Amino acid sequence: MKIIPISLPTPFYIGPVNVYLIAEDPITLIDTGPKTKEANEALREGLRKARIRVSDIRRIVLTHAHEDHCGLARSLRDEAKDSQVLVHSWESGHRVGRLEYEEHRALLTRAGVPPGEIQRMRKMYEGVRKYADSFEADEYGELRDEEELEFSNGALRILHTPGHTPGSCSFLREADRTVIAGDCVLKRITPNPVLSPDPVDPSKRFASLAEYLVSLARLRSFAPTLVHGGHGEPVHDFEELFNRYFRAIRERQTEVIRLIPKTGTTAWEVAQQMFPGADDVHRFLAVSEAVAHLDLAHSEGKIALELGDGKEIYRPISAR
Ligand SMILES: [Zn+2]
Ligand SMILES: [Zn+2]
Repeated sequence: MKIIPISLPTPFYIGPVNVYLIAEDPITLIDTGPKTKEANEALREGLRKARIRVSDIRRIVLTHAHEDHCGLARSLRDEAKDSQVLVHSWESGHRVGRLEYEEHRALLTRAGVPPGEIQRMRKMYEGVRKYADSFEADEYGELRDEEELEFSNGALRILHTPGHTPGSCSFLREADRTVIAGDCVLKRITPNPVLSPDPVDPSKRFASLAEYLVSLARLRSFAPTLVHGGHGEPVHDFEELFNRYFRAIRERQTEVIRLIPKTGTTAWEVAQQMFPGADDVHRFLAVSEAVAHLDLAHSEGKIALELGDGKEIYRPISAR
């Protein structure tokens, strides 16, 4: 069972995205790239090199539903008749009529983001939506943790590895401990735990960073020999990456705690201090990052959190 990486251009800051072809019965594509002419052409070129036609694809599997990964899923599915699309039920980015705007607005308001700023973020995300088609609820199947994607010659074990998004999944080939990890593992950057409503209780936010640390530890428990990420080169030394991520997360946490004045502060204010020049999508990602680290510090009892005026105010423990 050969895993064939295909790199596709994206219009996003992160650069090219990796999708993975498994040219084994049933022919499977893991992630699809964004809905752009350039990505579509590069994908077809990659398939052609592997002597596969779009119409041969029987299964489209999504590591998660960000536009750079799921954008072409619908048009590929329509072209490859009867092919199946699979995604974890905690993912929402691919769904028609998702309610997330309201839920996100509530989360951002609680994080202290000013209304005008939320409006800007919303506009920006609406702009990004054009890079992906949506699915009706009955048009995709579910990826379930610990189940297997079977092939005529081998299998991939589905691992639910939440953190970057609630429904992020990785895929393990046990024979040689190779993992396809989507944006859970990226060689050059620490993946952003994106601010999301909790899929079980959308009025709460998803404990993205705490979940992410569990996912990383779970991947580590398989002692992977090779990890294919959603962007950039594959990772051969997962142990080194694991330690580097943990160090980076701890350092960032220390920095975040240091930014909290005795009088208390919001995640928005912390984000402004951490990433003063952040623009565009990075303003949302900055808030995501601040919230993720503040949440983790709070869950570990390192800082206090109270609600004041509809906003969450973080305070150093010593000031109480
Ligand atoms: Zn992503
Ligand atoms: Zn990505």
